[in-house]
Amino acid sequence: MSEPLAGAREAVEKLVGDRATEWDLSGLIPDDTLRTLAADGLLCAEVPEASGGLGASSTENGEFTAYVGSRCSSLRSVMTSQGMAAWTIQRLGNPQQHAEYLPKLAGGSLAAVAFSETEAGSDLSAMTTVIEQDGDSVVVRGEKVWTTAAYYADMIVVVGRYGSGAAAVVVPVSTPGVTVTRVPQPSGCRAAGHADVRLDDVRLPTGAVLGGGQPLMLLVTTALAYGRISVAWGCVGILRACLDAARAHARTRQQFGKPLAQHQLVGRHLANLLTGEQIATRMCEHASRCWDSGSPDMVITSVMAKQVSSVQAAQGAATAVQVLGSAAAHEGHVVERAYRDAKLMELIEGSTEICQLILSDYTMSMPAT
Ligand code: FAD
Repeated sequence: MSEPLAGAREAVEKLVGDRATEWDLSGLIPDDTLRTLAADGLLCAEVPEASGGLGASSTENGEFTAYVGSRCSSLRSVMTSQGMAAWTIQRLGNPQQHAEYLPKLAGGSLAAVAFSETEAGSDLSAMTTVIEQDGDSVVVRGEKVWTTAAYYADMIVVVGRYGSGAAAVVVPVSTPGVTVTRVPQPSGCRAAGHADVRLDDVRLPTGAVLGGGQPLMLLVTTALAYGRISVAWGCVGILRACLDAARAHARTRQQFGKPLAQHQLVGRHLANLLTGEQIATRMCEHASRCWDSGSPDMVITSVMAKQVSSVQAAQGAATAVQVLGSAAAHEGHVVERAYRDAKLMELIEGSTEICQLILSDYTMSMPAT
């Protein structure tokens, strides 16, 4: 691993160790674990050095995200939210806002990003949250659901309607009118701090508004691009964890007088897992190269990487459960956890179907090859 993230894996290994299952079962990652990683800038490693961050490339941070995802998808989810908040501020904010918020995110504060509402899931154009100018402040009103990491966050980047367009607004959770309520018993990524966020006439300085007046879907696409590539790399991590567990089990578990790996139908499962991991990795590497070169394809390749990696992760985790048999039928086993976590990756940041619709539109806009 190159310079910006030197020692990062060791730091995660030290903090996570064998605790991911315990966090999954309790539904909580200890605050000091999150604060330590956040203070070292590891939850949003792509924040530029000039803004107090580590200045990692997308490729470097992607491989690191996969590593975190292989150890604990809940922690990786928190990391995705933090990185998406930083990216949204970086893309939509002015230099003053960069100076105010980015060093905080790279230095210990925790953040989440809220788009979804009860009636606005896949169809974010149905969003009703409003950010209204009122003298020299703005007032935010609305109800967000399923905001990853909101339970841990110090600030939430809330997307809402603003005049005839849209904006994002940075809402410190300590502001009067903000209520954060945990989502009870999520099926996967259980310790990722998912929460609903109610905003009752939350008054903030105008300086908290990012990208005011942009078309809603353009703003959403900008913010989600980071979420998509980050989730995609997290899915690579899920696949690697499943591959490791399936390989180890198939090597040692004997049935019919020989190791499972020597039964050809089990071997096919292992081959499918390896192929899935490689397909997902290559898609993510390609998307990250587009980010690192500033290619206009960075948005669409992130959609592709997310779509492919999440489907591969969901299939790969199911395959790994099959290889382990009853050994994986314990709540909290690494493969059982992966099975629950991976399925949710097909729903978020644009479900599989929504990503396919985006890719279908893109296909129709392409010139002949
Ligand atoms: P729906 O929109 O009701 O869709 C249900 C099903 O119908 C899906 O399979 C969908 O693909 C399909 N469908 C919908 N429309 C179409 C269509 N036009 N064509 C084909 N199929 C369609 N939101 C945030 O804002 N911030 C977060 O941090 C966040 N984190 C999340 C974490 C988790 C674990 C979960 C489960 C959700 C999270 N969400 C978050 C919300 C998430 O973005 C939404 O759940 C997602 O957008 C899907 O919306 P929905 O659940 O309302 O499903």
